[in-house]
This record gives sequence, C-alpha cells and structure tokens, in this order.
Amino acid sequence: MLVDSHCHLDRLKAAPDEASLNAVLTDAAALGISHFLCVNVRLQEFEAMQQRMQPYNNVFLSAGVHPLDVENGVSADDLRRFAANERVVAIGETGLDYFYSPDNKREQQQCFETQVEVAVDINKPLIIHTRDARQDTLDILKAGHAEKCGGVLHCFTESLEMAQAAIEMGFYISISGIVTFRNADALREVVKQLPKERLLVETDSPFLAPIPHRGKENQPAFVKDVAQFIADLRGESLEELASYTTANFFNCFKGAAKLR
Ligand SMILES: [Zn+2]
Ligand SMILES: [Zn+2]
Repeated sequence: MLVDSHCHLDRLKAAPDEASLNAVLTDAAALGISHFLCVNVRLQEFEAMQQRMQPYNNVFLSAGVHPLDVENGVSADDLRRFAANERVVAIGETGLDYFYSPDNKREQQQCFETQVEVAVDINKPLIIHTRDARQDTLDILKAGHAEKCGGVLHCFTESLEMAQAAIEMGFYISISGIVTFRNADALREVVKQLPKERLLVETDSPFLAPIPHRGKENQPAFVKDVAQFIADLRGESLEELASYTTANFFNCFKGAAKLR
C-alpha cells in the first residue's frame, strides 16, 4: 500500500471529467496506491476542487495559497472557513520560491506567515513548498512556532542540513520524481540519509513525471515508480518503504488517519 502525499488531481489534463478522474484513480489503486492528498494552490479554486473530489473517500484535501500564486494575497477568513472541512487535513501548499519568483519576496513571506499562523491556530499540519529560500523558510516556521502543528517539506530538493532542521521541528520530508532525474545526484545523496520515520513519497502530478515516464503528464500511479527508485537507492524493498511511508503519512496528517 502506497500514498501519493502530494498531487493536484484537479489540474490533470488526463482527467477533465468524472469518468476520466475515476480512471486515473482506479489505475493508481490497481498498483496499490490507496490514498491521495489533493493539494490546493489558490483559494479561489478550493470549492471547485472540493466538489470534484467529494465522491472519493480516499482523497484528502488541503487549503492554501502557493508561493507562486500570491498576487491576491491570502484571506485568512476564507482559509479558516475552507480548512474547517474535515476532509481538509493540511494547510498549503505555502512557503517561499525565490528560484522562480525572486522579485516578490515580501509578498510571499507575508502570505506564508499568515498561513503558518492559521495552521498553528487550528492545529492542522503545513504543506511547505520551498526553493532557494532555505533560511527564510526556516526562520518563518520558527518565528510562527510551526513545531506546534508540524507538516511536510514537499518535493524536497534542498540540503540535508535543511531537512534536518525541519525534522527537528517535527516536519516530514517528501520526495518526488525529481529524485529519478539524471542531474539529481545531490538530492540522491540526501535521500539516502533521511531517517525512515520522516520520509514521504509524492508525485506532485501533473508536474515532474519520473523516469521512465518523462515527457508524459505525471499521474498518481507513478508514485510507485518514485517509491521503487527510492527503495533501490536506499537498499530497501518496495514493500518496506511503502509500509513506513504510509505509516508516516497518517502520522503527519492526523486528520487523514481519523477518516481512514
Ligand atoms: Zn510545490
Ligand atoms: Zn504541488
């Protein structure tokens, strides 16, 4: 049994309607992928996403504003209202991306700070997107006492030191298909050293299809390829990695464990 801990099911070109979304989720289930966390990136899109995912008991949701979508800021009231839904098991994805967007750091920081505050207040874990912003990400998490709600650094591509600093604050580290990419040697070294009890796997679909699916649209079923690659890299069996990453998912996202 595997969990895709981070996917954008409402953005799959392969799943524009209910029948095709059923097919995508059935394909994944046939490979042993039992649960999915469908991650929100804009609050304006939350209600449509929630409606589309309503039929699926094994799809959990988040609510939040992505650091590359901060042009409208974040309404803390809307966030709290959406997050009150029991299927919403996390706040995010939020964080900082100075790689793709170095010119609006202050807006990203403000948006991130607000979401940390709400997450701590309502005690739901954070889904963090962080790229080329290591110190500022950790500083904002620390200043906001994010250790109280915990969460995950998703699609992790940063240093082992950053992973360790986040782990000390109670966070998990989620690895995507980037780990399979040819130029990802540094990330592979990090992944070898991450502690079992803090590792999650994800697709971040529809983006970042892993090898051997490069060039195709990513989909949740491919989390099995990510997991197999990481298991091989760490000298573990797929079954072992699947078992502990699934347990970690439900430890991290306690709201999902309640609905399981
Ligand atoms: Zn992200
Ligand atoms: Zn994402």
